[in-house]
Amino acid sequence: MGTAEEKPTTGIEYECISCKEKVTAEQLAITPEIKCPICGYRVLKKVRPQIVKHIKSR
Ligand SMILES: [Zn+2]
Repeated sequence: MGTAEEKPTTGIEYECISCKEKVTAEQLAITPEIKCPICGYRVLKKVRPQIVKHIKSR
């Protein structure tokens, strides 16, 4: 109701340095090893999803 529990893995995205495809942590969790599900490349870099904040200041 009032509490919102967020797992630390949610919202984390990885980017394949080979095909530049964005891969979510959930997609990576499917395979036992870290690799791109699209091209199979094993080097992914962690990227932060862009969070757009609108801060009202007055
Ligand atoms: Zn890839």
